[in-house]
Amino acid sequence: MPSDTLIAAALRDGLAQPAERVLAVGAHPDDIELGCGGILALLAQKRIHVAALVVTDGAGNGRQPAVRYAESQRAARMLGVSELRFGHVRDGRAAEESRLVHVLDRCIRVSRPTFVLTHAITLHEHNDHTAVAAATRTACTKFGIPMLGYEGPTYPLAGDFVPTVFVDIGAVWPTKRRAILAHVSEVRRGSISLDHARCRAQHRAAQAGWDSALAEALQVNSKNGQLTHEQSFLEALSIQFQVSEWQQGHTGVGAQ
Ligand SMILES: [Zn+2]
Repeated sequence: MPSDTLIAAALRDGLAQPAERVLAVGAHPDDIELGCGGILALLAQKRIHVAALVVTDGAGNGRQPAVRYAESQRAARMLGVSELRFGHVRDGRAAEESRLVHVLDRCIRVSRPTFVLTHAITLHEHNDHTAVAAATRTACTKFGIPMLGYEGPTYPLAGDFVPTVFVDIGAVWPTKRRAILAHVSEVRRGSISLDHARCRAQHRAAQAGWDSALAEALQVNSKNGQLTHEQSFLEALSIQFQVSEWQQGHTGVGAQ
């Protein structure tokens, strides 16, 4: 893939618009940290307002919501998330939850994001992820907010996730690592694995042509499948990212 990619932006620090506000949406406590924790840490370092919404209570298979909420709060602080919200939807029931769209709707009205990250719409990692991705897309479409989808690195590589954007998270890997490990109860259960997260980050960086780097990958989530407003927004965020040429449909934009 290296020859199929191009550096779309490697913008200098200080170009980000302080008015930008990012919202990350995850079905369960830990999904956000695993899927886009590095990106959130980068954004927070650049003083961009970062909010997170954990939709369900994470109570599946006898887990304790209070424990999981506390772990989410610790992880969010580590990443620099300044606003953490909980949807209190029952774990495993997101698809049947009639309040789901309302939860997303309300969060967007209160947090006023200009950009949203959530589960990739085409992935079928978990029913809750699929339901949350669909509800988030509905809400973002309604409010006209650009969005991108992340993957769950503890799930097997899936062909239905087509990365479009790669973000170098090497500089903030220690932060992401700590945020993942903040989910102590999940680490103890063996439900999340730091090794899987790191291996996936290495794989995505290699796909982007970045040797000895770590990356998070994002996919277009909008109904038209185009990377239009999303790329403009990423450029404004002043983070180093790379866009797949074969997705973007043009060549020669920028260089590091
Ligand atoms: Zn999950």
